[in-house]
Amino acid sequence: MRVYDSLVDLIGNTPLVRLHKVTAGLSAQVLAKVEYLNPGGSVKDRIAVRMIEAAEASGQLRPGGVIVEPTSGNTGVGLAIVAQKKGYRCLFVVPDKVAQDKISVLRAYGAEVVVCPTAVSPDHPDSYYSVSDRLAREVPNAWKPDQYSNVNNPDSHYHSTGPELWEQTEGKITHFVAGIGTGGTISGTGRYLKEISGGRVKVIGADPEGSVYSGGSGRPYLVEGVGEDIWPATYDTKVCDEIIAVSDRDSFTMTRRLAREEGLLVGGSCGMAVVAALRVAAAAGPDAVIAVLLPDGGRGYLSKIFNDDWMADYGFLTTSSDEGLVGDVL
Ligand code: PMP
Repeated sequence: MRVYDSLVDLIGNTPLVRLHKVTAGLSAQVLAKVEYLNPGGSVKDRIAVRMIEAAEASGQLRPGGVIVEPTSGNTGVGLAIVAQKKGYRCLFVVPDKVAQDKISVLRAYGAEVVVCPTAVSPDHPDSYYSVSDRLAREVPNAWKPDQYSNVNNPDSHYHSTGPELWEQTEGKITHFVAGIGTGGTISGTGRYLKEISGGRVKVIGADPEGSVYSGGSGRPYLVEGVGEDIWPATYDTKVCDEIIAVSDRDSFTMTRRLAREEGLLVGGSCGMAVVAALRVAAAAGPDAVIAVLLPDGGRGYLSKIFNDDWMADYGFLTTSSDEGLVGDVL
């Protein structure tokens, strides 16, 4: 019978799909790595398996253990799926800017979720970093994967995303573009691609305007899952050849275009990464093969990015030309 023993076996090996319409007028190829096709719906399934299996091997995670993690949702889903298979409880801490739909998804998988304010500094006792540290100390048999410092986060990409991109492009990839949250995706994938290509592949980070990676102060932005107000250990500061800052407006406008024009119903950090990839494509020659990683799907953002009233409230959708040409975001 052609069956998989477990959903966990379906993680990774996501397809690479050529973008056509949003790249009109550009000669370089732009290829999207579609991570919402992972079973948990995001790139974060990859790190969940590797972090949990490494913690079991090292004895940090024991039978009956509780996984405590601050997560914007996607890491939580990945951890919940793997934990469910292996019999662990999950306790997640999320900032209040995260879409309600995402929190409902975590609870649907059986996880417990604590919601914390976004508008406090990271060292404030109510910040989601502080609350998760406290729970990890106080809950018996707790283990905190800490995707912000766990080497298995970037390593999962070094061992899966990077080799997949190299094989899928038959070594022709010239540029890799990804958003930076924990930095795990860009650091692990970027390191692998640089090593195997002898330094030929250029690695470009996409970052929300206001985030520290592109020189911002950590001021708030609306795109979820990317950008930071701290520098996590999982981000290799040497891996990026360039970092491109993208506004919320450009990120969300492109996110809507990806759904309408490419059939890709994806999240806001995907629009952000594609804006950066198109800027790279505009500067690169016709031989460039640019892979851009799309971390998650769009269903968790229906009441925000795909809601005209929400977009209009923030001034992101003032005229119909907002859905317009590539030139609008270049
Ligand atoms: N986009 C979304 C929607 C995410 O949840 C994440 C993970 N925080 C990222 C992008 C960034 O990935 P990474 O943490 O590997 O930098």
